[in-house]
Amino acid sequence: MADCIFCKIAAGEIPSSKVYEDERVYAFKDINPQAPVHILVTPKEHMANVLECAEREDDLLGHLMKVASRIAKEQGLAENGFRLVTNCGKHGAQSVNHLHIHILGGRQLGEQMA
Ligand code: AMP
Repeated sequence: MADCIFCKIAAGEIPSSKVYEDERVYAFKDINPQAPVHILVTPKEHMANVLECAEREDDLLGHLMKVASRIAKEQGLAENGFRLVTNCGKHGAQSVNHLHIHILGGRQLGEQMA
């Protein structure tokens, strides 16, 4: 989608620190990390958020979660744990309107979710 920063990142038009890529998914380091490990897992195809993905796609959400879990393991987060987050819409404080799952880990995260 024109003017979507994550579409441009997945297409290689904007530089990113790539962590993983397959036919459907692109994962890269967050530019403003909130934890020692902060990676974003995105579908290559544009979809605004988890609602749109759930409506449109049969198995993509499952694939995104599997990829996120695999990356977390590869990053050494399995033993001490980590957090997967997807923000949705205004109250969810989503700032980039292209679905992404945050992988956060590498330190003790806060107990509060919000
Ligand atoms: P959210 O608030 O859930 O929409 O998260 C958007 C995330 O995208 C934030 O954590 C930003 O730091 C991150 N972000 C924005 N632009 C870039 C970029 N060019 N490269 C990597 N991460 C980015």
